[in-house]
Amino acid sequence: DYQNKIAKLKGQIKSYPDFPKPGILFWDIFSAISDGQTCTLLQGLLVETIRREFPDIQAVVGLESRGFLFSFAVATELGIGCVPVRKRGKLPGEVIAYEYKLEYGTDILEIQKDSVKPGLKCLIIDDLLATGGTVNAAANLLQSCGAEVSGTLVVIELEALNGRSKVPKGVKLHSLIQYA
Ligand code: AMP
Repeated sequence: DYQNKIAKLKGQIKSYPDFPKPGILFWDIFSAISDGQTCTLLQGLLVETIRREFPDIQAVVGLESRGFLFSFAVATELGIGCVPVRKRGKLPGEVIAYEYKLEYGTDILEIQKDSVKPGLKCLIIDDLLATGGTVNAAANLLQSCGAEVSGTLVVIELEALNGRSKVPKGVKLHSLIQYA
């Protein structure tokens, strides 16, 4: 059943202390998907979760860069569109930008203007929710385009960082795996 599958997935994700800098415990989703069975398991879990928690979405928005893996994998299965949100300067054509604060300085996320029509019901997808800064910026960017952000789905939620509180009101957050 669902909980068994989640436990199996959890058992496949390795963590690396002090990567990419001292004090960070890095959760490596790639360690899980180098195995074919775990790929299929994860894709199935994501699709099942979306059908249950976010049944009416019309597009999935993948966040650079590991979010792209999951957005395409679920979009093909659900028969809906897949839209990237990237760091500044990587997407061609007309883009809409959103600047947000980091611990030091600022960063900019961009989306292609033609990829979101006003009212489009979107689901943001990424590998991991830490402080919530990235998801918050992506949700604001989508809303500034007139899209309707139905929710956010992440594989891993680091609960101690309370990123959940940064997700805008009215945007439901769902995580497959939680670490305290
Ligand atoms: P945040 O904006 O703080 O929620 O950070 C989320 C983004 O940074 C996601 O795209 C993650 O891929 C990445 N990230 C942050 N912390 C970690 C971590 N401990 N392990 C793996 N990825 C992380």
